[in-house]
Amino acid sequence: MTDDVDVAGNLAQVKTQMADAMTHHGFDPDPLPELIAVSKKQPEDRVRAALEAGHRLFGENRVQEAQARWTVLKTEYADVRLHLIGPLQTNKAGDAVALFDMIETVDRPKLVHKLADAMAIQNRHLPVLVQVNTGAEPQKAGVLAEDLDDLVQLCRDRGLDVKGLMCIPPADDDPALHFALLVQMARDLGLKTLSMGMSGDYPIAAAVGATQVRVGSAIFGPRAG
Ligand SMILES: *Cc1c(COP(=O)(O)O)cnc(C)c1O
Repeated sequence: MTDDVDVAGNLAQVKTQMADAMTHHGFDPDPLPELIAVSKKQPEDRVRAALEAGHRLFGENRVQEAQARWTVLKTEYADVRLHLIGPLQTNKAGDAVALFDMIETVDRPKLVHKLADAMAIQNRHLPVLVQVNTGAEPQKAGVLAEDLDDLVQLCRDRGLDVKGLMCIPPADDDPALHFALLVQMARDLGLKTLSMGMSGDYPIAAAVGATQVRVGSAIFGPRAG
Protein backbone atom coordinates (compact mmCIF):
# COMPACT_ATOMS: atom_id res chain seq x y z
CA MET A 1 0.00 0.00 0.00
CA THR A 2 1.10 3.54 -0.74
CA ASP A 3 -0.31 6.35 1.35
CA ASP A 4 -4.00 5.46 1.55
CA VAL A 5 -4.41 3.85 -1.86
CA ASP A 6 -4.25 0.08 -2.33
CA VAL A 7 -3.13 0.14 -5.96
CA ALA A 8 -2.52 -3.61 -6.25
CA GLY A 9 -5.91 -4.35 -4.69
CA ASN A 10 -7.61 -1.86 -7.01
CA LEU A 11 -6.01 -3.40 -10.10
CA ALA A 12 -7.35 -6.80 -9.06
CA GLN A 13 -10.75 -5.30 -8.24
CA VAL A 14 -11.09 -3.63 -11.65
CA LYS A 15 -10.36 -6.93 -13.39
CA THR A 16 -12.90 -8.75 -11.23
CA GLN A 17 -15.54 -6.12 -12.03
CA MET A 18 -14.90 -6.51 -15.76
CA ALA A 19 -15.10 -10.30 -15.54
CA ASP A 20 -18.37 -10.11 -13.58
CA ALA A 21 -19.92 -7.64 -16.04
CA MET A 22 -18.91 -9.75 -19.03
CA THR A 23 -20.22 -12.97 -17.50
CA HIS A 24 -23.45 -11.23 -16.59
CA HIS A 25 -23.92 -10.15 -20.23
CA GLY A 26 -23.16 -13.60 -21.59
CA PHE A 27 -19.57 -12.89 -22.71
CA ASP A 28 -16.64 -15.14 -22.01
CA PRO A 29 -14.46 -13.08 -19.63
CA ASP A 30 -11.33 -14.75 -21.02
CA PRO A 31 -9.61 -12.76 -22.37
CA LEU A 32 -10.45 -9.64 -20.40
CA PRO A 33 -10.06 -6.27 -22.12
CA GLU A 34 -6.53 -4.94 -21.70
CA LEU A 35 -6.36 -2.67 -18.69
CA ILE A 36 -4.63 0.65 -19.39
CA ALA A 37 -3.73 2.17 -16.04
CA VAL A 38 -4.02 5.91 -16.57
CA SER A 39 -1.16 7.41 -14.58
CA LYS A 40 -1.53 11.08 -15.56
CA LYS A 41 -1.20 13.48 -12.62
CA GLN A 42 -0.63 10.63 -10.17
CA PRO A 43 2.16 10.63 -7.59
CA GLU A 44 5.11 8.43 -8.44
CA ASP A 45 4.68 6.10 -5.46
CA ARG A 46 1.28 5.00 -6.76
CA VAL A 47 2.64 4.37 -10.23
CA ARG A 48 5.53 2.40 -8.74
CA ALA A 49 3.05 0.38 -6.70
CA ALA A 50 1.35 -0.66 -9.95
CA LEU A 51 4.71 -1.59 -11.49
CA GLU A 52 5.65 -3.58 -8.40
CA ALA A 53 2.32 -5.40 -8.66
CA GLY A 54 3.40 -6.48 -12.15
CA HIS A 55 1.29 -4.06 -14.17
CA ARG A 56 2.96 -2.92 -17.40
CA LEU A 57 0.39 -1.07 -19.53
CA PHE A 58 -0.12 2.63 -18.84
CA GLY A 59 -1.88 5.60 -20.37
CA GLU A 60 -0.86 9.25 -20.33
CA ASN A 61 -2.65 12.20 -21.88
CA ARG A 62 0.20 14.71 -22.26
CA VAL A 63 3.43 14.14 -24.11
CA GLN A 64 5.65 16.30 -21.88
CA GLU A 65 4.30 14.94 -18.62
CA ALA A 66 4.72 11.42 -19.95
CA GLN A 67 8.31 12.11 -21.01
CA ALA A 68 9.14 13.47 -17.55
CA ARG A 69 7.77 10.40 -15.82
CA TRP A 70 8.49 7.53 -18.17
CA THR A 71 11.85 8.29 -19.76
CA VAL A 72 13.49 7.06 -16.55
CA LEU A 73 10.88 4.50 -15.44
CA LYS A 74 10.98 2.86 -18.87
CA THR A 75 14.69 2.16 -18.42
CA GLU A 76 13.92 0.47 -15.09
CA TYR A 77 10.98 -1.50 -16.48
CA ALA A 78 11.88 -2.22 -20.09
CA ASP A 79 8.64 -4.09 -20.85
CA VAL A 80 6.37 -1.16 -19.95
CA ARG A 81 3.98 -0.17 -22.75
CA LEU A 82 2.62 3.36 -22.96
CA HIS A 83 -0.48 4.59 -24.76
CA LEU A 84 -1.10 8.24 -25.58
CA ILE A 85 -4.77 8.85 -24.75
CA GLY A 86 -4.91 12.66 -24.87
CA PRO A 87 -5.10 15.13 -27.78
CA LEU A 88 -1.84 15.39 -29.72
CA GLN A 89 -0.53 18.69 -31.12
CA THR A 90 1.19 18.24 -34.45
CA ASN A 91 4.43 19.81 -33.16
CA LYS A 92 4.67 17.01 -30.56
CA ALA A 93 4.13 14.20 -33.06
CA GLY A 94 7.82 13.31 -33.22
CA ASP A 95 8.18 13.18 -29.43
CA ALA A 96 5.03 11.08 -29.18
CA VAL A 97 6.28 8.58 -31.75
CA ALA A 98 9.59 8.29 -29.90
CA LEU A 99 8.01 7.61 -26.49
CA PHE A 100 4.69 5.83 -26.90
CA ASP A 101 3.75 2.33 -28.04
CA MET A 102 0.29 3.26 -29.30
CA ILE A 103 -1.33 6.58 -30.21
CA GLU A 104 -5.06 6.38 -29.46
CA THR A 105 -6.03 9.87 -30.48
CA VAL A 106 -5.56 10.28 -34.22
CA ASP A 107 -8.38 12.61 -35.22
CA ARG A 108 -7.47 14.87 -38.15
CA PRO A 109 -5.65 14.76 -41.48
CA LYS A 110 -2.81 17.09 -40.47
CA LEU A 111 -1.97 14.83 -37.55
CA VAL A 112 -2.05 11.75 -39.79
CA HIS A 113 0.55 13.36 -42.06
CA LYS A 114 2.79 14.46 -39.17
CA LEU A 115 2.66 11.04 -37.54
CA ALA A 116 3.36 9.25 -40.80
CA ASP A 117 6.36 11.53 -41.42
CA ALA A 118 7.68 11.09 -37.87
CA MET A 119 7.32 7.29 -38.07
CA ALA A 120 9.17 7.22 -41.37
CA ILE A 121 12.01 9.39 -40.03
CA GLN A 122 12.34 7.35 -36.83
CA ASN A 123 11.62 4.04 -38.53
CA ARG A 124 9.24 3.31 -35.67
CA HIS A 125 5.84 2.15 -36.84
CA LEU A 126 3.39 2.31 -33.95
CA PRO A 127 -0.16 1.05 -34.10
CA VAL A 128 -2.76 3.82 -33.82
CA LEU A 129 -6.43 4.24 -33.00
CA VAL A 130 -8.72 6.88 -34.44
CA GLN A 131 -10.60 8.86 -31.80
CA VAL A 132 -14.25 9.41 -32.68
CA ASN A 133 -16.26 12.29 -31.23
CA THR A 134 -19.40 10.14 -30.95
CA GLY A 135 -21.36 12.89 -29.21
CA ALA A 136 -20.33 15.52 -31.79
CA GLU A 137 -19.34 17.81 -28.92
CA PRO A 138 -17.78 21.02 -30.27
CA GLN A 139 -15.15 21.30 -27.51
CA LYS A 140 -14.06 17.68 -27.68
CA ALA A 141 -11.28 16.08 -29.70
CA GLY A 142 -12.08 13.28 -32.10
CA VAL A 143 -13.20 12.98 -35.70
CA LEU A 144 -16.91 13.37 -36.41
CA ALA A 145 -18.69 10.18 -37.42
CA GLU A 146 -19.33 11.50 -40.94
CA ASP A 147 -15.59 12.09 -41.51
CA LEU A 148 -14.43 8.80 -40.03
CA ASP A 149 -14.23 6.72 -43.22
CA ASP A 150 -12.13 9.33 -45.01
CA LEU A 151 -9.75 9.68 -42.08
CA VAL A 152 -9.26 5.92 -41.76
CA GLN A 153 -8.62 5.75 -45.49
CA LEU A 154 -6.05 8.54 -45.24
CA CYS A 155 -4.32 6.68 -42.38
CA ARG A 156 -4.12 3.58 -44.54
CA ASP A 157 -2.90 5.55 -47.55
CA ARG A 158 -0.13 7.03 -45.42
CA GLY A 159 0.84 3.61 -44.09
CA LEU A 160 -0.40 4.05 -40.52
CA ASP A 161 -1.34 0.78 -38.85
CA VAL A 162 -4.90 1.58 -37.75
CA LYS A 163 -6.00 -1.04 -35.25
CA GLY A 164 -9.31 0.42 -34.14
CA LEU A 165 -11.30 3.22 -32.57
CA MET A 166 -11.43 5.10 -29.30
CA CYS A 167 -14.13 7.31 -27.77
CA ILE A 168 -14.94 9.35 -24.69
CA PRO A 169 -18.74 9.62 -24.33
CA PRO A 170 -20.31 12.96 -23.36
CA ALA A 171 -20.48 13.28 -19.58
CA ASP A 172 -24.27 13.56 -19.47
CA ASP A 173 -25.20 10.76 -21.88
CA ASP A 174 -25.69 7.06 -21.27
CA PRO A 175 -22.23 5.76 -22.20
CA ALA A 176 -23.67 2.45 -23.43
CA LEU A 177 -25.19 4.21 -26.46
CA HIS A 178 -21.83 5.65 -27.45
CA PHE A 179 -20.04 2.36 -26.90
CA ALA A 180 -22.60 0.62 -29.13
CA LEU A 181 -22.05 3.26 -31.82
CA LEU A 182 -18.30 2.75 -31.67
CA VAL A 183 -18.71 -1.03 -31.89
CA GLN A 184 -20.81 -0.61 -35.03
CA MET A 185 -18.38 1.83 -36.65
CA ALA A 186 -15.44 -0.47 -36.00
CA ARG A 187 -17.35 -3.44 -37.42
CA ASP A 188 -18.20 -1.49 -40.59
CA LEU A 189 -14.53 -0.63 -41.06
CA GLY A 190 -13.24 -4.10 -40.27
CA LEU A 191 -11.38 -2.83 -37.20
CA LYS A 192 -10.88 -4.97 -34.10
CA THR A 193 -9.57 -2.76 -31.31
CA LEU A 194 -12.03 -0.77 -29.22
CA SER A 195 -10.69 1.57 -26.54
CA MET A 196 -13.63 2.60 -24.42
CA GLY A 197 -14.55 2.78 -20.75
CA MET A 198 -13.06 4.83 -17.90
CA SER A 199 -13.41 4.61 -14.09
CA GLY A 200 -17.10 5.46 -14.17
CA ASP A 201 -18.17 3.07 -16.90
CA TYR A 202 -15.53 0.42 -17.62
CA PRO A 203 -17.74 -2.55 -16.56
CA ILE A 204 -20.35 -1.47 -19.13
CA ALA A 205 -17.67 -1.01 -21.78
CA ALA A 206 -16.25 -4.46 -21.05
CA ALA A 207 -19.72 -5.97 -21.31
CA VAL A 208 -20.39 -4.50 -24.77
CA GLY A 209 -17.11 -5.31 -26.48
CA ALA A 210 -14.25 -3.07 -25.32
CA THR A 211 -10.88 -4.66 -26.06
CA GLN A 212 -9.11 -2.10 -23.91
CA VAL A 213 -10.31 0.13 -21.07
CA ARG A 214 -8.58 3.26 -19.76
CA VAL A 215 -8.90 3.43 -15.98
CA GLY A 216 -7.23 6.05 -13.77
CA SER A 217 -8.86 7.05 -10.51
CA ALA A 218 -10.43 3.64 -9.81
CA ILE A 219 -6.87 2.27 -9.68
CA PHE A 220 -4.79 5.15 -8.34
CA GLY A 221 -7.33 7.24 -6.41
CA PRO A 222 -8.17 10.88 -7.12
CA ARG A 223 -5.72 12.86 -9.27
CA ALA A 224 -3.80 15.90 -8.12
CA GLY A 225 -4.83 19.17 -9.79
C1 LIG B 1 -8.00 10.73 -17.68
C2 LIG B 1 -8.50 9.85 -18.74
C3 LIG B 1 -8.98 8.55 -18.46
C4 LIG B 1 -9.08 7.99 -17.05
O1 LIG B 1 -10.06 8.66 -16.31
P1 LIG B 1 -10.62 8.04 -14.95
O2 LIG B 1 -11.99 8.56 -14.86
O3 LIG B 1 -9.71 8.54 -13.87
O4 LIG B 1 -10.58 6.57 -15.06
C5 LIG B 1 -9.39 7.77 -19.52
N1 LIG B 1 -9.35 8.22 -20.79
C6 LIG B 1 -8.89 9.45 -21.10
C7 LIG B 1 -8.87 9.86 -22.52
C8 LIG B 1 -8.45 10.29 -20.09
O5 LIG B 1 -8.00 11.52 -20.42
